[in-house]
Amino acid sequence: MKKIVVATKNEGKVREILAAFQKLPVELLTLKDFGDLPEAAEDADTFEGNARSKAAFYAAKTGMACLADDSGLEVEVLDGAPGVRSARFSGRHDDAANNEKLAAELQAKGAAESAASFRCVLVFRDADGEELVAEGACIGCVRTKPRGTGGFGYDPYFYLASGKTMAELTLAEKQAVSHRGAALRLMAKELRGYLT
Ligand code: IMP
Repeated sequence: MKKIVVATKNEGKVREILAAFQKLPVELLTLKDFGDLPEAAEDADTFEGNARSKAAFYAAKTGMACLADDSGLEVEVLDGAPGVRSARFSGRHDDAANNEKLAAELQAKGAAESAASFRCVLVFRDADGEELVAEGACIGCVRTKPRGTGGFGYDPYFYLASGKTMAELTLAEKQAVSHRGAALRLMAKELRGYLT
């Protein structure tokens, strides 16, 4: 059976990717199966550029087909920030500090809420350098008041049209509406074609 490495160190992303690919006829590995690999650089100015460089980096490190994810939050009143800098918005790779910074930036704009979207680009790259790309978006709004304990990252601050935050959803409910869920469904379809 074809092996694919889920090439991200973000445990929240790993959970969602493994859940979505359960029924694919592939064996899924994670970076933990390869010991202490370094973090891939993320210096592109697009999600796709970063996802491509992470997939290439980990495919070279593992010698195997890899699936990388680059994603983030774009907030209208912050002119699209934090965007590709979402993971380190506060200057640290720390969800609590990033969320605090998000709330502070909204308050500084005098905005209790703003339209926002989550975006996700997935890049699969095999050992021969063949690539598949899939993307997804989820539209909602961010508020200064968090709710819920599920998910990861900015989920408690991201409100859907239903009035719930992403952090108030079960994993299956989040997959059904999220940027990553949408990208994973497209990627699963692409991979089924690639594997046949
Ligand atoms: P990167 O793709 O490793 O640059 O990190 C993406 C960052 O965007 C994460 O660290 C989170 O802060 C945020 N993010 C991406 N996807 C989600 C999500 O599904 N929920 C909440 N935050 C997310």
